[in-house]
Amino acid sequence: MKLELKDITKNYGKKKALDHFSASFSEGIYGILGPNGAGKSTMMNLLCCLLRPDEGEILFEGKDIHSEKKEYLRHIGCMPQVQTLYPEFTVREFLLYMATLREMDRRKASERIDELLSTLSLKDAEHKRIKACSGGMKQRVLLAQALLDDPEIILLDEPTAGLDPKQRIAVRNLIASLAVNKIILIATHIVPDIEMIASECLLMNHGNLIRRGTQDHLCRELEGEVFLVKTPPDQIREISRYGLISGMSLYDGIVSSRLISKQKPPFDSEMIRASMEDVYLYWFGEDAV
Ligand code: ADP
Ligand code: MG
Repeated sequence: MKLELKDITKNYGKKKALDHFSASFSEGIYGILGPNGAGKSTMMNLLCCLLRPDEGEILFEGKDIHSEKKEYLRHIGCMPQVQTLYPEFTVREFLLYMATLREMDRRKASERIDELLSTLSLKDAEHKRIKACSGGMKQRVLLAQALLDDPEIILLDEPTAGLDPKQRIAVRNLIASLAVNKIILIATHIVPDIEMIASECLLMNHGNLIRRGTQDHLCRELEGEVFLVKTPPDQIREISRYGLISGMSLYDGIVSSRLISKQKPPFDSEMIRASMEDVYLYWFGEDAV
């Protein structure tokens, strides 16, 4: 399978959301990482056919997705960041309705819905009206909807927004378990959402691709530039003069800070292996939050 974005430009009026952006995907899980405004949702909405590019083309198996739209849509499951739900439907009614739109067999759909409701801890909510669901529940309903007929391409935009830490892990595990022979794209600014599960990461900002590689590769690129610095709490301000601090922990009155810096800082410190959080901060710096 091959999904390709070729030299895509997308503007909103004068704002260039994607600027000659190219990327191609085969089977695997891809983390699309970038701060707010990077262009992630624009890219995902283009891939879901919710938007059309101003320039460039998107190909699935070599064919333009817009000229083969009906056929292409059969292969994809989408969870857009800006949600449209039907407030008066119950969770189950909504999922059945979406299954009907996808022309799924009714019995198969019902079985699949049972399976997804239980995996996503929504069984108790199946007869709840969507308008009465919490943000985290709605998010899981939307994820269930994207997975209904086991699509080959799964496009998830900020899938864990509004979820608590336990639900985040459940969603991440679910995504990991789906991965065989699929193209899965997860757009997020939250590193743990894709950590461990993404076979490759694409870092994007200002509508451009900044970096692409496996997590291992991206972490190795920072070799020699990440330090674990140990200081008393009152020296934290001084550490930040030597670079970016990507994490801190306090134990027995000593603060351990992860510092990204070109040189070894003049404190009690040791070089450590970079994590994806370090990578994120390294490339996005001040934009990171
Ligand atoms: P991300 O998902 O990475 O946060 P988006 O793709 O949503 O980024 O946005 C990329 C850029 O395009 C941002 O600067 C954003 O403000 C702008 N943008 C997105 N949608 C619209 C829109 N409908 N109208 C105008 N500007 C938009
Ligand atoms: Mg977005």
